[in-house]
Amino acid sequence: MTVQPLPRSGRLPWLIAAVMLAATTSQSVAGTAVIGGMKLSCSAAKVVVSNAVPGPGFAVEGLIMFGPKFLHAYPPLVQRLVFLHECGHQYVGTDESAADCWAVERGKRQGWLTRAGLKQACKALWHTQADGVHLAGPERCQALEQCFASTPGKGQ
Ligand SMILES: [Zn+2]
Repeated sequence: MTVQPLPRSGRLPWLIAAVMLAATTSQSVAGTAVIGGMKLSCSAAKVVVSNAVPGPGFAVEGLIMFGPKFLHAYPPLVQRLVFLHECGHQYVGTDESAADCWAVERGKRQGWLTRAGLKQACKALWHTQADGVHLAGPERCQALEQCFASTPGKGQ
């Protein structure tokens, strides 16, 4: 996903402060949010959905944050993958490819992510450039498709 890399520690206190402040007025429930038209949960983290979040998605330990005005630029299916990608960071750490793979596996197991859907999501990522943290779109898509293929499930 075109999510931001994990914030560097220098930026972290500001981000947390802004988000904690926003959390008091947001409608999100800890651990769950409606993203891309579907209620998604991340049992490992609190979830904040707020326009104070300066990007589509961020993860820090125990907390995932989403900015609706950035997230809504993507198709619903990509929005869900962003959610799961950030949730995945709670389990796999800072590795971006591992978080991508975690998201794809979870989406396939939940039954809403199909091979066709993944291809569609990839089109939204295709133009992205490698940035030192994330692979360029085409390589990222190839990795996503490999994760999909190696996950048991009915999705075709
Ligand atoms: Zn990430």
